[in-house]
Amino acid sequence: MTNPNQTHLTLIISADSHANYLMERILLSMGHTVEISTSFEQAQQYLQPIPPDLLIIHENLLILDKLTWVKNTHNRFPALPLILYSLGIETDFLISLMPYGFKHVISPPIKKEVFNQIIEQSLRDNLQLRQWILLESRRNTQQLQSRVNDLEALTRLGQSVTGSLDLDVVLKEIVDAAVEVTGSEEGSLLLLDEKSGELYMRASRNFNDDFVNTFRLPIQDSLAGSVLRSGKPVILDEKTPQKIKTSYLVNSLIYVPLKLKEKVLGVLGVDNRHKRVTFKQNDISLLLAMAEFAVIAIQNANLFNDSENEQNKLNAIIQNIEDGVLVLDQDNRLILINNVAENILNIESPVNPGMTIKELILEPELAAQFEYGMPTESIHTEINDKDEQTYSTQITPIPGVGTAIIFHNITYLKKLDQIKNDFVSTVSHDLRSPLTAILGYVELLERVGPINNTQKEFINRVQTSVHNITNLVDDLLNLGRIEAGFDTRKEFLDLSKLVEFTIEGMHKVLQAQQQTIVTEIEDNLPHIFGSPVQLRQLISNLLSNACKYSPIGSTVKVEMRQEKTQLLLSVIDEGFGIPAIDLPHIFEKFYRAGNISTDISGTGLGLAIVKTIVDSHHGRIWVDSVIGKGSIFTVVLPISE
Ligand code: ADP
Repeated sequence: MTNPNQTHLTLIISADSHANYLMERILLSMGHTVEISTSFEQAQQYLQPIPPDLLIIHENLLILDKLTWVKNTHNRFPALPLILYSLGIETDFLISLMPYGFKHVISPPIKKEVFNQIIEQSLRDNLQLRQWILLESRRNTQQLQSRVNDLEALTRLGQSVTGSLDLDVVLKEIVDAAVEVTGSEEGSLLLLDEKSGELYMRASRNFNDDFVNTFRLPIQDSLAGSVLRSGKPVILDEKTPQKIKTSYLVNSLIYVPLKLKEKVLGVLGVDNRHKRVTFKQNDISLLLAMAEFAVIAIQNANLFNDSENEQNKLNAIIQNIEDGVLVLDQDNRLILINNVAENILNIESPVNPGMTIKELILEPELAAQFEYGMPTESIHTEINDKDEQTYSTQITPIPGVGTAIIFHNITYLKKLDQIKNDFVSTVSHDLRSPLTAILGYVELLERVGPINNTQKEFINRVQTSVHNITNLVDDLLNLGRIEAGFDTRKEFLDLSKLVEFTIEGMHKVLQAQQQTIVTEIEDNLPHIFGSPVQLRQLISNLLSNACKYSPIGSTVKVEMRQEKTQLLLSVIDEGFGIPAIDLPHIFEKFYRAGNISTDISGTGLGLAIVKTIVDSHHGRIWVDSVIGKGSIFTVVLPISE
């Protein structure tokens, strides 16, 4: 029976006013509310927002496309009973109307009892259908809810696996979740002990501690072992109760493998000892997903341990090597520093990662290297610490990491160098007077008596040789003086003037070689702060080399220009050039390139002197050279503020 207290809305679509009147009267007497539409268009308004409880349609209106309207309405509201008002319809037409959803037919004459019955029956059908739909959707919702719960459990596990490196916690969470989603009594995660070849319980739920601690299963002859060997899940129900361990009987159980590629690391299992539950395929799928999480967690933990071990090893190496090491990231912040570097840089406050280079490096020489940002190529410099120790400092950019600075103690080398320099200076100095005496006496030889041509030639040779030795001694003395820090009185000076003076002083040589020196010097170049003696020597060495190593009649060019805070001086010649193999060495002491004939005298010290002077003025020097075409020596000096 339908609910007598409920008011039903019946919609009649019919243009037959007589029939409408009769039906309305009966329906009103049944307690219905009635709406009458004479066309489908008009009826449309009564279908929303909620459809009527009954729909009666007069057959006269069912022409052509109107049937489509009926079909659409039936599809939209499948529970809405459709009643056909027929004037005595043909069976064929009736049958053709069935697919459109009509459930009952009313024909005139309309008798109250029959009409009543049909209406009641239709409403009962409608109620039944609605209840069925409700039940069905509840069942689906329940299933969906349980799937949602499963997925939520998996998501939580995923978050915990990626968010925690504590393997104990993660594996315990996995076992807990496995027990909960499968509604089991107990859960365990067994791992293979590679050494003993046995399975032990790494995480568990609802097993007592003693059992967990003493749990050891051989791989052979055990159910869990068989999963480990086959790599395939096992599911048991109460028809086949099993012992998972001696005298430990379970009614139902699932074991799934923890697989890492082809290797099985262990087994994840849930079981019931008392409950009579049959596991389903879905439970295996869930457990397999959880097993994958467990494998990821184990792998993460292993990777973390490995990287921590590596990190510890690296730290031990870095702390124990004799060199100072400091590594900065790409934002110039500290990544690591060892004690040696801390001492060298005299860092007293406790260092912590993230300190900036400005806080770490106060030593001016080294700090200057970072003034314009991080260096893009390796830089080598020397610094002294508070204990008068000298360190060779190598700053190296490391792609993707930042910058490494290595401090190597070279104090003993410096001392050796000093001893050697002192020795060379002393010897050179002591040689100078006897050499002058030899030259003097050789020149006197001609004056004290007649000499033949052969003797004259010998005297010339002696003079040339003594000149060469004197040049060498002079160069050695110069170098010694510069290295020892003499002639270092610095002043503000106009470098272009020094260039002019030097060229003037060379006119004899230029004349002899029919060479010309041209200059291209920017106007109003700023002054630089430097030693006039040393800088004149620098220009003189570069210019005399340019002439010496160029053919007769060639031109040498001197260019000078300003670039930002630096002055660039280039000496360009059209000479013999320097072979590529010799280029890296020509600033070394006593080095002479292989393409130079031994007839051209030289000591191999000129460029070493130039380099030392450039260094003591915080500048840089380099050479570009093409064999047979010429060389360009470029010196860069900082402009004084
Ligand atoms: P040297 O006394 O031999 O000139 P330097 O130290 O001045 O010693 O130069 C070292 C070597 O570099 C020279 O022997 C020569 O081989 C090469 N060199 C220097 N300047 C030039 C130049 N302008 N053109 C070609 N070679 C040069």
